[in-house]
Amino acid sequence: MAAVPTITLNDGTEIPQLGFGVWQVPANDAEKVVAEALKVGHRHIDTAAVYGNEEGVGRAIAAAGIPREELYITTKLWVSDFKAGNTKEALRTSLQKLGLDYVDLYLIHWPSPADEAYLSAWNAMEELQAQGLTRSIGVSNFLPEHLERVLEAGTVVPAVNQVEIHPALQQRDIQQANEQHGIKTQAWSPLAQGAVFRDEPVVSAAEAHGVSPAQVVIRWHLQRGRILFPKSVTPGRIASNFDVFDFELTEEQLSAIDSLERDGRLGSHPGEFNPS
Ligand code: NAD
Repeated sequence: MAAVPTITLNDGTEIPQLGFGVWQVPANDAEKVVAEALKVGHRHIDTAAVYGNEEGVGRAIAAAGIPREELYITTKLWVSDFKAGNTKEALRTSLQKLGLDYVDLYLIHWPSPADEAYLSAWNAMEELQAQGLTRSIGVSNFLPEHLERVLEAGTVVPAVNQVEIHPALQQRDIQQANEQHGIKTQAWSPLAQGAVFRDEPVVSAAEAHGVSPAQVVIRWHLQRGRILFPKSVTPGRIASNFDVFDFELTEEQLSAIDSLERDGRLGSHPGEFNPS
């Protein structure tokens, strides 16, 4: 089985660079789908309280019998929980659903910046880390201005910032700000949910290497140093999306994919999204 490279975070822990995401995997399918991902070799799973599938993820983990220290599990704090001052209870609930004593990474899912509740949430996250309920803490969908506020308000620098990144939306300003602060970038919707699979640089690289467009885009992220967790519920795709360690894109192919940048945003804009 292929060894997935790891990336060292600013707190000294290591994260497998390639993981498996479960957004929009229905609760009833999560156990089966995550079992498939673990079977092909994934050890890093990215879920969230708001995905509603932590119990299924937990059942798959329990059934797989893989030693806990070989797994890397991320979940996320939903906005309504931190706005209500329930950050600590929210992680305890997630742990119970996942059947775990700790997660590897706990993220603030969105800043929802119309008020500043995300700052006190960050302080609660710091306490959860100190208590050992999560090994690392980080943020998701934070713009550079939100990162600045967190750095002022807290003592722990977020380990990661998980943001929408794919060839059609690369958010270089956010990636740069992350790097300046020693924060690793995680790319969500790394495949642009399929929207770039017919773009010429992706198609020609796929033909050149005899691989799929999805495999090309996954390699592009890996070789650009980002952490990613593509999602699929189809066993053949789950397997091929993991089978990306026996070819390498050339610098020319990487640059051609870099040039696909356009305003291809799929999700909400973090500065304007204020769920309660
Ligand atoms: P993705 O870019 O991983 O695309 C997944 C979709 O691409 C699949 O549903 C399928 O339609 C298609 N696909 C996957 N493999 C394929 C293949 N080999 N061939 C053809 N089509 C294929 O999109 P995503 O699920 O939005 O993002 C991945 C993960 O990122 C999520 O599951 C979640 O863990 C995370 N995420 C986080 C946030 C956040 O706010 N933090 C938001 C969205 C997603």
